[in-house]
Amino acid sequence: MAQPRDWSSLTQLPAAQIRSIQDRALARFVREELYPFSAHYRKLFDGAGVRPADIRGVADLARLPFTTKQDLLRVQLAAETRYDFVLRPNPGSIKAHWPFARKLALVLGGARARELVRFNYTPNFLTFTTGRSSEPVGFAYTPHDIEVLGEAIARMFDIADLKRDGERIVNLFPFAPHLAFWAVTFGGFKTGALVVPSGGGKVMGTDGSLRLFERLNPTTVVGTPGFTYHLLRRGNELNVSFANVRTVILGAEKVPPGLKEKMLECMRAGGAGDVRIVGTYGFTESRMAWAECPTADNRSTGYHLYPDLGVFEVVDPHAGQVVPDGHDGELVYTGISGHGTCVLRYRTGDLCVGGITWERCPGCGRTLPRIGSELRRASETHALSLTKIKGTLVDLSVMGTVLSSLHDVEEWQVVLSKINDDPLELDQLEVRIAPRKHADPDALKRQIATELARATEVAPNSITFHALPEMLEMLGMESAMKEKRYLDRRPK
Ligand SMILES: [Zn+2]
Repeated sequence: MAQPRDWSSLTQLPAAQIRSIQDRALARFVREELYPFSAHYRKLFDGAGVRPADIRGVADLARLPFTTKQDLLRVQLAAETRYDFVLRPNPGSIKAHWPFARKLALVLGGARARELVRFNYTPNFLTFTTGRSSEPVGFAYTPHDIEVLGEAIARMFDIADLKRDGERIVNLFPFAPHLAFWAVTFGGFKTGALVVPSGGGKVMGTDGSLRLFERLNPTTVVGTPGFTYHLLRRGNELNVSFANVRTVILGAEKVPPGLKEKMLECMRAGGAGDVRIVGTYGFTESRMAWAECPTADNRSTGYHLYPDLGVFEVVDPHAGQVVPDGHDGELVYTGISGHGTCVLRYRTGDLCVGGITWERCPGCGRTLPRIGSELRRASETHALSLTKIKGTLVDLSVMGTVLSSLHDVEEWQVVLSKINDDPLELDQLEVRIAPRKHADPDALKRQIATELARATEVAPNSITFHALPEMLEMLGMESAMKEKRYLDRRPK
């Protein structure tokens, strides 16, 4: 098993050297792990006429087809294919595919070495995807993968500039079988940092989470953008001190730029000094997450990758070809360090503005590759029939970014429906707003209509104003796992 590279030296190597480390790690992973032990990928390689030895580096991946969410769903539906994405070694496949030195170590190690192989390849933990439109897909971790996740999040803490000692971290992610909560938990176990979970709004409640602040005086807050903002605002109402908070790490959803500003206002009102707000990116299928580095003006320099643990390609979302560095495209992920459920060339559905860059980071000086922090969810593109003739494609996540970023919008919700609930009628788009105190409602209404039309080319049919408590109720801020930002009430 390849040990993770020494992290701090890896982050300073010349890009060409990092690329070569990544190419070798990918080639070894395909040869010794993925092809021998994954039923799905053995079939896929054989079907494409590609031998594992043909994959000598990242550029060779283009010879293989993509893996999609539908592939994962289909495989888990049938009993005979359910484990096809899981690495399952046996003596025959080890004998046929491991290099001599690795097999020799296994033989010389005797029963103990064999037991270690069993231990490191047997799943003991799962997280699930959160898609609302389809069955959740389970991703298996082995003890080896929990180590890798811990290492990845230790690196994320380092990128976010958390200190080795004295850091007190509150984890606001909801208790759930989802990556975000467990990533922070395992990151704490790995680094030894104090990580205290509140379970989010549904478990301890916002006020309960804030009492934790009074007892712990946290230096770092980790959570979703929506709930974290709500908690900070409520903290201001209750006069909770944020004086010790230095870092806010946001995950599980994209972070609208204007929301960072509103959070900073709350932090300052709570007595905080210089606070850095750091966005992260991760997804169930990668079983890890990446972070922006903190910058003085809280502007993003992109997510810093771990090139020895995984590979990102950026492809044209329509043609599927890999695009040059620095170009927009869909992110495609290949894990090169895991056991359990492994994916190669997985299409994330995330469109990345600016793609991937290997330039040294202007913020922290690390030479790691980075992906642009402006992501758009390809799968969140909804077709709206606003005229009788044709549907208009609307990226609801763009709408959310616009609304969250507006200074005078405290909370918001978007509701889609049909006139009179008639499936043949036109779509109705209602935007519900809880305005900030002292906002001028007429001016805000005009601003929302203008900004939404500019960003999405769609004007809402109605903009309604609601008191904050009513809005929090509608969003399920204290009762749902994830706040209900978009309600689609159109009859199917
Ligand atoms: Zn940086």
